[in-house]
Amino acid sequence: MLKINENFQKLPGSYLFAETARRTKAYQAAHPEREVIRLGIGDVTRPLAPAVVSAMRAAAAEMGVQETFRGYGPDFGYDFLVNAIREGEYAARGIQLDYDEVFISDGSKCDVGSIQELFSADARIAVTDPVYPVYVDSNAMAGRLGDFRDGRWTRLCYLPCTEENGFVPPLPDREVDVIYLCYPNNPTGTVLTRAQLKPFVDWALAHGAVIVYDAAYRAYITEEDIPRSIYEIEGAKACAIECCSFSKTAGFTGTRCAWTVVPHEVRGQGADGAPVELNALWKRRMATKFNGVSYPVQRAAAAVYTAEGQAQIRETIDAYMRNARAIREGLAAQGYRVFGGVNAPYIWLRTPAGIDSWAFFDLLLEKCQVVGTPGAGFGPSGEGYFRLTAFNTYEKTMEAMERLAALG
Ligand code: PLP
Repeated sequence: MLKINENFQKLPGSYLFAETARRTKAYQAAHPEREVIRLGIGDVTRPLAPAVVSAMRAAAAEMGVQETFRGYGPDFGYDFLVNAIREGEYAARGIQLDYDEVFISDGSKCDVGSIQELFSADARIAVTDPVYPVYVDSNAMAGRLGDFRDGRWTRLCYLPCTEENGFVPPLPDREVDVIYLCYPNNPTGTVLTRAQLKPFVDWALAHGAVIVYDAAYRAYITEEDIPRSIYEIEGAKACAIECCSFSKTAGFTGTRCAWTVVPHEVRGQGADGAPVELNALWKRRMATKFNGVSYPVQRAAAAVYTAEGQAQIRETIDAYMRNARAIREGLAAQGYRVFGGVNAPYIWLRTPAGIDSWAFFDLLLEKCQVVGTPGAGFGPSGEGYFRLTAFNTYEKTMEAMERLAALG
């Protein structure tokens, strides 16, 4: 009989959202008359921008006409989108990327999950803690993390981010080969300034490590000294891969389009000890396992960079950030210690003394009918914290704040 990849058996169950959904459903079944407000969702709720929809429609129409029909697209994305990204996201900030350093894909989850295929089987991995689970689980599936014991992987280097260190992760205290960083951060909503990010780039360069930088929430940044891209930091082009997405920037969670930057200068060591460009490996990997994002979706994504598109996505992001501000200020006024929500659609709060994050989940559900996400579900350092998201409507968000205020 086939032997399976036993690393899958080491994974803890996908407990977090399944469990919050189960508890919410049970509560609703017991109290059908009470309306539950969901501030746990990490998905966008507002529709696509009109400029995006009309570009998608026009492209779909082209596909129905003999002269303009297209089959398989280029493996790494159409030039109109690659160039729009190079211009709109990078050149506009003084960052020059070669055409073949940008790879279009159907989502950042796939890219941040698959990038580890380029690393050796024994590569040593570091993640910030709490963390977006994909970085951890994808490396666990590849057998790099050892065993999962008492809520921790034995071979994973955790970089705790807590109130005590201002959510600025420490540099690794041992040799690692890869550091995953996500800024603005999911789940904490916190950011690193350029000065706080620079030591990671310097560390990676000094130790021959690679940084995988997930900037899925970069469009939510409001403050000047926060980098939108890791390539704003000197030296990063020699050590960092950057993953970005249209999902949270332009409401593409159901439409699917993203990009990953793999600069030529980022190198690893081959079997003979000689340096090898990760760009060449990623090209090989994408050409083998991926067949491109559909033409209408790439046209839709390119429309984000028109003047109209930019104004329209800004309006949507501003609406979410209005919710974020309402949550942040509402909770702070109620005496909670609150983090994030200034440069990200996530608000991270300290649970009241003596109440752990799952107990706080139950308390909010039962007393306020408000659903959030327990911090403990994102990693050991998430215990004692709780995540709320800004993706519901303003009205529901305000109502949730009123219900929390009434809790006293
Ligand atoms: N990276 C982070 C940090 C996320 O929070 C998410 C989605 O929630 C993703 C990546 C996935 O993005 P995509 O929809 O492009 O797969």
